[in-house]
Amino acid sequence: MRRERMQGWGGFPVVVGERTVPEDADALVGCARRPEPRLAQGNLRSYGDACLFERATSMLRLDRVLAFDPSSGLLEAEAGITLDALLRHVVKGWFLPVTPGTRHVTLGGCVSADVHGKNHHSSGSFGRYVEAIEMVLAGGERVRCSRSEGSDLFRAAVGGMGLLGYILSVTLRLRPIASAAMVKRTIPGGSLDEVCGILEETEGAHEYSVAWIDCLAPGRTLGRGLVYLGEHAPADRVPSRDPLHLRLRTAVTVPLPLPECLLGRPSMRAFNALVFRRGARAAGDEIVPLVPFFYPLDAVGRWNRVYGRRGFLQYQVAVPKRGGLEAVREVIARLAAWRSGAFLAVLKTFSGAQEGFLSFPLGGYTLAADIPLRDRSVIPFLREIDRGVADAGGRVYLAKDAILEREVFEAMYPGIEAFLRVRRRYDPERRFRSLLSDRLGLT
Ligand SMILES: Cc1cc2nc3c(=O)[nH]c(=O)nc-3n(C[C@H](O)[C@H](O)[C@H](O)COP(=O)(O)OP(=O)(O)OC[C@H]3O[C@@H](n4cnc5c(N)ncnc54)[C@H](O)[C@@H]3O)c2cc1C
Repeated sequence: MRRERMQGWGGFPVVVGERTVPEDADALVGCARRPEPRLAQGNLRSYGDACLFERATSMLRLDRVLAFDPSSGLLEAEAGITLDALLRHVVKGWFLPVTPGTRHVTLGGCVSADVHGKNHHSSGSFGRYVEAIEMVLAGGERVRCSRSEGSDLFRAAVGGMGLLGYILSVTLRLRPIASAAMVKRTIPGGSLDEVCGILEETEGAHEYSVAWIDCLAPGRTLGRGLVYLGEHAPADRVPSRDPLHLRLRTAVTVPLPLPECLLGRPSMRAFNALVFRRGARAAGDEIVPLVPFFYPLDAVGRWNRVYGRRGFLQYQVAVPKRGGLEAVREVIARLAAWRSGAFLAVLKTFSGAQEGFLSFPLGGYTLAADIPLRDRSVIPFLREIDRGVADAGGRVYLAKDAILEREVFEAMYPGIEAFLRVRRRYDPERRFRSLLSDRLGLT
């Protein structure tokens, strides 16, 4: 057991505490039997405080593949394995049915946040493809749950942010792919209305879609952007002797936190304009490798250091389709006006599918933007936006959050009561806790 400084990907907040690193299931059961409250940690790729507590159990050594059937794509693996390791060593010819924008997350983290990808509109969230999970509950009991067996525990643990117990292993249905390439289409949209129109019109025809939004574009072009659509490419469109070969590389790593002055508004405005113009020129279809299509940010190791030592918040909200465009416009306009504002954002559409009691996606739009934490005055500013999002019927994503207030959270998530009933049954002494659960009244 070591005392160390712990932080999520946004670098805020920071907690100093003890971390235990069990090597196998028996050691994990030993951790669960201890009376002190604690929290499972994956690879700390949630941005805020969902992965933080003063006593943590790192799941990263529980990373074995337990079974894989290459004819059906059914995989059972310990929850501490990362998606990167799965893609590298295990699953040639198969891919994740849903993947977040980084492969450096664990299976347990993907289940606990019920993560979404660029295909939520067509395929739903990660939890939909989880056939079963094995958990170690407070007190050390090992239980298996699924939609048909212990379904209340299953629905609470999927999207449950680690508060039901340790997820020891996950059985996941993968999807077959014929190549490690994508057919990518780029379509520019000159305003937010145009971008949203393109996302909606193309939803039925393309499995993957996402838009990059320019939050510094002037006047009526504010919210202009580039929509990227994608499909897995058939093998005969890939000019390679091994169409299934994945190139999983990190090209460069940011060595140190960068000085904050590098992220000035004029330089970012010029950068955004350049990206938009280049994207608009490259509009059309191309065959691209799968890895940069899904994980563009993974090409730069530790890119979170570009925001400096004080870190940043990633602000991600979902708003219902009805009234959603206006709500998104309002959030973008307010973020753009903030002095150390958001420079760019990502916009996607969600279907209405909901896997867990606390799952984030709701049918409509989701917008995510990075906000540098130059000083703490941004916190009350974002909390005010939170209230507007709640009034519009929307919600904040817990895997990115560090600042949401309890009453606003309660207005956003109708599944809280059902979640807490199950939590009280399986963890009556509230042994699984996080800074987030204490802040939001989930402890
Ligand atoms: C660059 C980047 C891009 C991202 N893109 C997306 C995206 O497109 N879509 C999306 O949905 N998310 C996205 N995320 C967020 C990320 O997918 C989630 O926060 C995910 O939960 C992180 O997994 P992790 O293994 O790092 O878990 P951690 O961050 O360590 O933990 C996250 C939560 O899971 C719990 N947990 C982890 N492992 C276990 C376990 N074995 N048992 C019980 N509880 C556990 C923790 O207690 C905590 O509450 C992105 C993050 C980054 C850094």
